[in-house]
Amino acid sequence: MAKILDGKQLSERIRSRLKEQLDEQVKRGKRRPFLAVVQVGDYLPSTVYIRAKQRACEEIGIDFKHLKLPEMTSMEELRGAVNAINEDDSIDGLLVQSPLPAHLDEVEVQRLVSPLKDVDCFHPENVGLLYIGQPRFQPCTAAGIIELMLANGYDPAGKHAVIIGRSVIVGRPLAIMMMLKARGGNATVTVCHSRTPDLPVLTRQADILIPAVGITEMVRADWVKDGSIVVDVGINRVPDDTKKRGYRLVGDVAFEEVEPKVEAIAPVPGGVGPMTVAILAGNVMKAAGFEIIYQVIE
Ligand code: NAD
Repeated sequence: MAKILDGKQLSERIRSRLKEQLDEQVKRGKRRPFLAVVQVGDYLPSTVYIRAKQRACEEIGIDFKHLKLPEMTSMEELRGAVNAINEDDSIDGLLVQSPLPAHLDEVEVQRLVSPLKDVDCFHPENVGLLYIGQPRFQPCTAAGIIELMLANGYDPAGKHAVIIGRSVIVGRPLAIMMMLKARGGNATVTVCHSRTPDLPVLTRQADILIPAVGITEMVRADWVKDGSIVVDVGINRVPDDTKKRGYRLVGDVAFEEVEPKVEAIAPVPGGVGPMTVAILAGNVMKAAGFEIIYQVIE
């Protein structure tokens, strides 16, 4: 039986540690951190993610504002809303929830957010700081994956990590973090993507396999090395009439057949997803000038 990398439980422990650190520093006179989330339109999964972020923030003691703009908001109006938050000294962290409606330019929006408030770590300045090994903020999903491994005793140092996916949200920042000469880094990293031929030949060489694609159960038992670590990032909706909401969430890994072969596996749901939100909360605290550590294992 593989060890289950339980992100739900770990994120609860991290959140409660963050709360302790927040309470202690607020007691010493610091103002509570404040996160603003801008949403354009009504895309339901975004609303669900924002609610999860709100819950985590409120539980820790971070003030939260959800600014909901109509679907037909123009680029100019969005620019105005982002600039107003950039200039509001009472707000420490700002993120614009993606995906944006097609008529809006996501890359421009990433540049509009003040780099000092950019808790998603998407601004080119923050991406550059990460690249040179001096991150201001942690890219949330990538850092969540690394903390999930470390807290369970799996240090990527010296291991061969194979990442499937090269997106700017997950695959690319994760590859950088895992190769940095830093805590949670020092791995030998292979990045695969949609144009990689013979994918299973590469994935079978992985000590740590991290699929972040969005294809239901793409990774089969014969894609993984015996005794490896698998961290499934994919979140896919599969129709399921037995569920009230009409679907269930599954990952990029065929869990039932892969689990017996591996040393440890992060499930979907309950693996990487909850970790992302805990790291985000930590970033908001950092943006507000709080001293924090995420580690729950000393
Ligand atoms: P994306 O669509 O931006 O990127 C997908 C990546 O997969 C691309 O780099 C592409 O090259 C690669 N890819 C596509 N088809 C492939 C194939 N057949 N073989 C190999 N590679 C292929 O998606 P994303 O935003 O990076 O998200 C990826 C998955 O992770 C999604 O399921 C998403 O829901 C999930 N996700 C989870 C979290 C979390 O917190 N758990 C956060 C972000 C994304």
